[in-house]
Amino acid sequence: MAATIEESLLKKPVQYLAGVGPKRAAALRRLEIRTLGDLLLHFPRTWEDRRPPQAQAGPQRRVEPALPDRSRVPQENLFTFPKTTLCAKVLQTRILPLKNRLQILRALLEYGETEIESVWFKRLSPRYDVFRSLRRQLQPGKLLWLVGRMERASRNRSILQVEEQYPAEDPEAVRIHVNRIVPIHPLSQGISAVRMRRWIRTALDAAKNDLPEPLPRSLIQKHRWLPYAEVLEQFHFPDSFADLENARNRLVYEELLLLEIALAKKREQIKEKQKQHRYEIRKHLLTPFKEGLGFEFTHSQKRAIREIFEDLRRPTPMGRLLQGDVGSGKTAVAAAAILLAVENGYQAALMAPTEILAEQHAATLKQIFRNLPVRTVLLTSGIPGAEKQKNLELLKSELAQVAVGTHAILESGVEIPKLAFAVIDEQHRFGVRQRALLRHKGHLPDILVMTATPIPRTLALALYGDLEVSTLTELPPGRLPIQTQHTGAQKAYQFLRAQVKRGRQGFIVYPLVEESDRLELKAAVEEAKKLQRDVFPDLKVELIHGQMPAQKKEAIMRKVTSGAADLLIATSIIEVGIDIPNATVMIIHHADRFGLATLHQLRGRIGRGPHPSTCFLITEGSLTESAQKRIEALCANHDGFKIGELDLNLRGPGEILGTAQHGMPELKLAGFQDAPWILKAREDAHQLLQRDPALAAPEHNTIRKTLAQRYRHTWSAIDLS
Ligand code: ADP
Ligand code: MG
Repeated sequence: MAATIEESLLKKPVQYLAGVGPKRAAALRRLEIRTLGDLLLHFPRTWEDRRPPQAQAGPQRRVEPALPDRSRVPQENLFTFPKTTLCAKVLQTRILPLKNRLQILRALLEYGETEIESVWFKRLSPRYDVFRSLRRQLQPGKLLWLVGRMERASRNRSILQVEEQYPAEDPEAVRIHVNRIVPIHPLSQGISAVRMRRWIRTALDAAKNDLPEPLPRSLIQKHRWLPYAEVLEQFHFPDSFADLENARNRLVYEELLLLEIALAKKREQIKEKQKQHRYEIRKHLLTPFKEGLGFEFTHSQKRAIREIFEDLRRPTPMGRLLQGDVGSGKTAVAAAAILLAVENGYQAALMAPTEILAEQHAATLKQIFRNLPVRTVLLTSGIPGAEKQKNLELLKSELAQVAVGTHAILESGVEIPKLAFAVIDEQHRFGVRQRALLRHKGHLPDILVMTATPIPRTLALALYGDLEVSTLTELPPGRLPIQTQHTGAQKAYQFLRAQVKRGRQGFIVYPLVEESDRLELKAAVEEAKKLQRDVFPDLKVELIHGQMPAQKKEAIMRKVTSGAADLLIATSIIEVGIDIPNATVMIIHHADRFGLATLHQLRGRIGRGPHPSTCFLITEGSLTESAQKRIEALCANHDGFKIGELDLNLRGPGEILGTAQHGMPELKLAGFQDAPWILKAREDAHQLLQRDPALAAPEHNTIRKTLAQRYRHTWSAIDLS
């Protein structure tokens, strides 16, 4: 059967190729290339347009290659510095005396109506004539293809610094290395670009006739894709940049299709599992909780709670994403779900990506649960040993029902015997793998993931394919939009002073890039003290930062909450959790250093009361283009959904996918700019699995095998139970 023949061809080791001995095979292995099939999937890093300039344009003119559409082909794949490629006839050559241990060979060539000079540099060798083979190629009268950079030697004289040259009569050269768009592949020591291209060309030629088609025919027809062999051909050796883009689209789609199938299968696997815990809505905690809250849940909070409770009461473990803007009340929703678990005699955990966030959450939960028989303990690596030991004991003995902490919770020494429900805050920093670990911490606990940078639901579903999605679409009633301005510090300070005169409070933030960076912290503290002394000597100013002992922090926060302080100067500690409705001004220093989402979070600390609020973004010096864009976006937008979308666009391609799928095999080609393909791939993946859940049909063979191969690490992380 044909299939077996080509399959064995693709599996042939690279040694099968001319010129690949043990040494080069080892070099190829470093690039993860072992077989001819691997070579076909060794994708170019970029492409060079080596089509010669128009004859009449003359050799001296630099020709900008026709670049592919920048919005589609990732930036790093763009070749931006043009080289010159031309075909010329050798007139004479000369070897010049050496210079800095470099031997120089110079040639004069005839090109159209003009002459051009070209030059080669080679490191001198005491043992052999470095130009021996080159001189043979450079016989007068010979026609040569040259690739290099034009360097200006004097006002009207340019010299071509040659990097590659090929005799015009060499058919391979014209087919592979010049006179076309040429791929530049990733290389490793001991393998030249020329060799790599040649081998890939050979592999393409060998496999061309009947390469197994990875996609089923229905999908190929649906998207009108070219046959697979043609796609690989055009991706390595495109006829035009349009063909290149078509080929890339199909490869990106394929990658995403596999990812979506993998995510769907994983979801299914989780759903097949039966959890051991069961919940009933008993209300002996939920009712007093609701009564003590002091507000009514918004519609979307009610809906989210309903969705979560429904999930919790199912026999299979929950995986749900709760997304909502800052201040939309996610914590209260999570608290309700935690209480349902506790009501039923179980334990719950809340995980945050940083210690400060974890501390804030612990404080918030303690506050919410203050009148209920619920004990919350903190678990971070920062808390003192004795306290940590005590907290571990409390959890182990089930005297504490709620654990709040960082990754520390996942450590093997942490025992939460009745863990049934876990909340993960800020999913961007935890990935599939952490969720898998958590599932093995308790006995398949239900998991709720919270994020404050919401993205469109469909996209969220595609990116976090193993999660269902609940979205808080509204803020609690009475919130006013926060005015945001990019101004100088003096203006901001004046405004703050005026607000304090009217009885309001304010925040000044020196966000730290790295919470734990001592020097940075010291600088921020110095600044703050100066501010206190020189600018606001007449106000009641408090200073808070992450390295302070917890008790001190609590005392300071009490002063601010009770109104005994006018102004709180802080490091990014107030990013979350702080809730002071009387605060109406926030001044953020070094705003350019931070991401959109972080700034939006920070800003969300004001605008929580009946008074209009203003946020000032302060920057120093000139801004990078992307910082400028972030600041503008923040000034122009209030809506977290909009911010989330902009954040996706501003962050580089791949980053979101990369972090979202942390612990999943990296995507080689797809990046965030391929969002439309993510959605299509997801839809197709689901239809395909509906028709053929086990991927047993012969036309799904390649998909099934590739999945098993590519996702084997992820599967093992999940199948531990
Ligand atoms: P998020 O975590 O989504 O940023 P929080 O849960 O911290 O939001 O809630 C922000 C503030 O709004 C908190 O002070 C909380 O008590 C309050 N809050 C939450 N839900 C409501 C509501 N339905 N009505 C009024 N205030 C609410
Ligand atoms: Mg919150």
